Amino acid sequence: MTLLDGKLLSENIKAEIAADVEHLRERGGKIPHLAAVLVGENAASQVYVNSKIKSCEQVGFKSTLIRRDADISENELLDIVQGLNNDPDVDGFIVQLPLPKHINEEKITLAIDHRKDVDGFHPINFGRMAQGLPAFLPATPYGIVETLRRYNIETAGKHCVVVGRSNIVGTPISILLSRKGYPGDCTVTLTHSRTKDLPGEVRRADIVVAAIGIPEFIKGDWVKEGAVVIDVGINRIPDATKKSGTRLVGDVDFEEVAPKCSHITPVPGGVGLMTVTALLLNTLKACRKEIYP
Ligand code: NAD
Repeated sequence: MTLLDGKLLSENIKAEIAADVEHLRERGGKIPHLAAVLVGENAASQVYVNSKIKSCEQVGFKSTLIRRDADISENELLDIVQGLNNDPDVDGFIVQLPLPKHINEEKITLAIDHRKDVDGFHPINFGRMAQGLPAFLPATPYGIVETLRRYNIETAGKHCVVVGRSNIVGTPISILLSRKGYPGDCTVTLTHSRTKDLPGEVRRADIVVAAIGIPEFIKGDWVKEGAVVIDVGINRIPDATKKSGTRLVGDVDFEEVAPKCSHITPVPGGVGLMTVTALLLNTLKACRKEIYP
């Protein structure tokens, strides 16, 4: 079994990005600038945004963090989005989700200029991705395809079973893996909470992508010998042996599944780190105007 090491991969990719930034700097070019908007005190969101800002620093990007209290109005947030859309120095920005209940997330996502939508959540980017046109790919699916590519995992003709159909993970990764070219050309089954006989579906998979949000949901006897398993889940569960009293686990029962597969992503240290790295790749593309010249 080979561990798909998101930590090692993201360090390698960050070193490549840092070298690119250095070249830009030497030539007097524009330094990539990512802005992040964080609303409220959601603990997980704070961790994610801090890790994005820290990663920017590591590769030499400029970064801006805009923090607002949870009682910010929708109009005030829309004004911030407009300001970032119009700021020529900001190449890309994200509004960290989830937002407080009184704010319509869809309205905010639609207000983001798709040319700066480095999270790849805007319907223009999603639609272009679905049609195989240049687009900002959503960061988690982008991190997954980059992992498959860098580990030279064969995908053509493979049967891939995606568990979970969210707009940010399950649905886009099912599209990316079914498109023509590498990594892709898979035959994809997209499963969800209404799927009948989920274990039976997963058992047929050469590649499993688990994005459900239920700790250790996928069991050992669901997985075919030699399968490639991508565990997107990030779940915190109680663990009395840890100082914090908790630990992170994925949507896959790692102890049971790892011995059966050819490759597996660990949690933590897998897809999560590659997601942040994919955001950096998108920001570099935005700065170079690679997607929208
Ligand atoms: P979501 O809640 O939006 O979607 C979950 C999906 O799982 C739904 O489509 C639902 O149909 C399906 N589902 C729920 N219960 C099911 C069941 N019993 N059987 C089959 N399918 C079921 O979740 P999401 O945003 O896609 O996130 C999924 C997980 O991935 C979460 O743990 C989240 O924290 C994690 N996540 C990680 C990253 C990362 O960077 N690694 C990024 C995004 C999300």
